[in-house]
Amino acid sequence: MKISDLFKKKETGNDDAYEPENKDEALGEPVASDELKAEKAEKSEEETTVCPKCKQVFDKTILKENLNVCPACGYHFVISPERRVRNLVDQGSFKPLKCKVPFVNPLENPEYEEKITSLQEKTGLEEAVYTGVAKIDGYETVICVMSSKFLMGSMGIAVGEKVTNAFEYADKKKLPIIVFTASGGARMQEGILSLMQMAKTSAAVEKFSKHGGLYISVLTHPTTGGVTASFATLGDITLAEPEALIGFAGPRVIEQTIGQKLPDGFQRSEFMVEHGFVDQIVPRNKMRETLALLLRLHSKRGK
Ligand SMILES: [Zn+2]
Repeated sequence: MKISDLFKKKETGNDDAYEPENKDEALGEPVASDELKAEKAEKSEEETTVCPKCKQVFDKTILKENLNVCPACGYHFVISPERRVRNLVDQGSFKPLKCKVPFVNPLENPEYEEKITSLQEKTGLEEAVYTGVAKIDGYETVICVMSSKFLMGSMGIAVGEKVTNAFEYADKKKLPIIVFTASGGARMQEGILSLMQMAKTSAAVEKFSKHGGLYISVLTHPTTGGVTASFATLGDITLAEPEALIGFAGPRVIEQTIGQKLPDGFQRSEFMVEHGFVDQIVPRNKMRETLALLLRLHSKRGK
């Protein structure tokens, strides 16, 4: 695909490009086949893991049963988008949104395509964000989950398009939207086109918001760069997982720029709540009930 093709109007043979995939599938079906790939990848790794905070060694199955949260100190490990969704939504209610974005390599980076293909195989994900429609305690909602394991959750054209698509779908169907962010920022392999995704996603949020939609943003570790500077911080309600790194530039760059030492805990969820940037910190085991409550409080029609 050439760059010029990106600016051409899309050919829309399909009247409704935003219908969920697997429309005919029964709601009781398990998530998706790509989930199996992710599980397989997890299993092939070592059996034990060390908590980076309290240094205790745990069997991975114990950690897994505890939603990837350290049973000793509450440290939140990274969790795959599929497992996050599975632990969050009503069983079998998740349907992925149909939004395939063709691979583009605007800077003609010789290793970029190979890297993307290998990450797709390794993670079972198409890109750094996973979008779909699901029910939480009976309330239907659009969900986007970013993965820091896919090129550090960096936002390129595909991520920008998938997030925008999810907001447009939520707007069209008058559904709330919940976005779990995890990102190192804009994707440098896509140059200026990745920065344009900030404007694009922000415009989609704005339009959704003007039409009265509810947007709940959940910041997970790490949420930085262009994602923080666009849709991640535009939520009506902003939640965060404990001790997540949330910021734009890294602390070292800021210290060098302002010539001052930064306070302890700077750019962590707890600091962000104290300074009014985040509304509430929600541990992973309380996420489902918190989101269910918020959806219920903002629902006009009941379930
Ligand atoms: Zn620990």
